[in-house]
Amino acid sequence: MMNVPLNIATMLERAETFFPKKQVISRMKHGVVRHTYKEIGERTRRLASALKQLGVEVGDRVGTFAWNHHRHLEAYFAIPGIGAVLHTINIRLSPQHISYIINHADDRVLLVDDDLLPLIEKVKDEIPNVRAFVIMTDEKTLPETTLDPVYHYEELLEKGNPTFSFVKDLDENSPAGMCYTSATTGNPKGVVYSHRGIVLHSMALGLADSAALSEADVAMPVVPMFHANAWGLPFAATWYGTTLVMPGPSFTPKTIAELMEAEKVTLAAGVPTIWLGLLNELEKGNYDLSSLTRILCGGAAAPKGMIRAFEEKYRIPFIHAYGMTETSPLVLLSRLKSYQQHLSNEEKLDIRAKQGILVPGLEMKIVGKDGDVKWDGIEMGELCLRGPWIADEYYNDERSQTAFRDGWLYTGDVVTIDEEGFIKIVDRTKDVIKSGGEWISSVDLENALMAHEAVFEAAVVAVPHPQWQERPIACVVVKEGKTVTKEELYDFLRPQFAKWWLPDDVVFMKEIPKTSVGKFLKLKLREQLREYFSN
Ligand code: ADP
Repeated sequence: MMNVPLNIATMLERAETFFPKKQVISRMKHGVVRHTYKEIGERTRRLASALKQLGVEVGDRVGTFAWNHHRHLEAYFAIPGIGAVLHTINIRLSPQHISYIINHADDRVLLVDDDLLPLIEKVKDEIPNVRAFVIMTDEKTLPETTLDPVYHYEELLEKGNPTFSFVKDLDENSPAGMCYTSATTGNPKGVVYSHRGIVLHSMALGLADSAALSEADVAMPVVPMFHANAWGLPFAATWYGTTLVMPGPSFTPKTIAELMEAEKVTLAAGVPTIWLGLLNELEKGNYDLSSLTRILCGGAAAPKGMIRAFEEKYRIPFIHAYGMTETSPLVLLSRLKSYQQHLSNEEKLDIRAKQGILVPGLEMKIVGKDGDVKWDGIEMGELCLRGPWIADEYYNDERSQTAFRDGWLYTGDVVTIDEEGFIKIVDRTKDVIKSGGEWISSVDLENALMAHEAVFEAAVVAVPHPQWQERPIACVVVKEGKTVTKEELYDFLRPQFAKWWLPDDVVFMKEIPKTSVGKFLKLKLREQLREYFSN
C-alpha cells in the first residue's frame, strides 16, 4: 500500500472540492453569519499565507484565544496547514495559568477574540515571546488595546493569498495541535496532537456505531473549541462536508436552544452542565427541537434522569460518551448492541447510562488490585488505553511518568466493565471514596441524588474520617421553586445503596464550585469540608 502521510489540510481540501456550497454558520455578537466551505477554504488559505508573512515557521506554536466561530475554524486548518501547531488556549483558566501555558508552549503569535482582549491584556507583561497579536473582530477598526503589535484579522486576510498551497510534505506524526488539560494541582499539562492522530480520530467520529457524523448532519459543537478541539468535531465535520453551527460567544441555554431550532441542528455535543441547562430552558420555553437526531454528552457522567428526560419527554435521542484531553478525546460511546434492543426500557437505560464500549481503533486494559478485573460490572480497576489518537506523554513535563507507563495511558479513571464490555466510569482515582478498605463511587451517589425531582445538582466528596479513613458527604443544590429535606433524600437513596455507602451528611448549597470546563471542583469541596468530622 502507498505510505501517504495523513495530513489535516486534505480534510479542508475535500470540503472545498466536494462541498463548496455547504455552510459554516456562526452566531456572532451582531447576528448570525454564514460562510460556504468554498469561502472558508479561501479565507483559510489567506490566513495561512498571512501567518507565514508574520514569520510563523514549521513547528512554531500559534495560540488561539477564542469562542466557537468561523474564524476559529479557519485557524484550526490554517495553522497546521503551514506546518505550525494550533494551541487552543482555555479562556477560563486563571491569568497565572494562561501565561504559564502561553510560555510553556512558546506561542509565537496569538489569535484573540476582541471581547476576550482584557484577559490577554492582563497577562501581556508575562508573555514576552509572543511576537504578534491578531485580533479577531467583526468591527471595521481595531479596538483600543494595550497589546503590541496588533493586527486586524480581516485586514490580514484581505492582503493574504486565496490560492496559497498548504504544506503537505510533513511527517504524519508532526505536531498539528496542542491543548492543556487542567491538573487538579499544579500547572496545566500539555497534550500534543499529531496530524495522524487528528485524521484517524476524525474518521472514528464518522463510524456508524460511533457518533455517525455525516454530510447530512447539521452539527453544533457546544463544547468550546479550546476544550479538546471541541471533541474533534470541527475537523471531522469539515472533512465530511457537514453543516457546522457555531454558537459564538454565547453558551446560554436560551441562545443554544434558539440556534438549534433556527438552524435545524441534528447533532449537538456538550458536557452535562450544558444539557441540564437546556432541559431547564425547555421546561420554560416552547422550542421545536425535532431536528435533533442525537445529543452527544461527555466530559462528566450524564445522570440517568437527564437521559430519560431528553428521550421520554422531548424525544431527543441522547448518547453518552467518554474521553479526555489526552485521548483526542473519543474513547467510549454507549450504543446498545443489536441483540440488546429487546430488553426493557429500564434495562436499556441502565446500559446506555454507562459510558459505553471502546470505539474501533483503540485498545484497553483495566487494572484492578489483582491484575485485570473481572467482566462482572462490579470489580473496579483503572482504565488504561493505547491507540493512534492517544497521547504518549505530556509536553515537556516530568509528570508524564505517572500517567504514561509501558506504552499505556493510565487514565486515572476507576471503572467497572460488564459481561458485554460496557464500561462504567465509577470515579476518578483521586475522587473515589475509600471507606474502611472498600471503595464507594462518588459518581453513583451523585447520579442517584440527581435523579430526585427536587435536586438540581449534587456532588459527593470524600472527607477524612477518624475510624473509616474516608466517608462520603453529599453537597446538594435544590432546583428553583422546589424543596426537599435531608430525610427525604435519605429515604430516596436507602433502597438503592448498601447502608455503608450512604453519605454521612447532606449539605445544601446554592451552587457547586466548578472547574474551568464546568466540572465539579471536588478539591475545593473537600477543602471546605475537611474538618467536618473533627468539629
Ligand atoms: P479536564 O481534565 O481539563 O477536566 P478532560 O476533558 O480532559 O478535562 O477530562 C477528562 C476526564 O473527564 C476523564 O478522565 C473522566 O474522569 C471525565 N469524564 C469524561 N467523560 C466522562 C463521562 N462520560 N462520564 C464520567 N466521567 C467522564
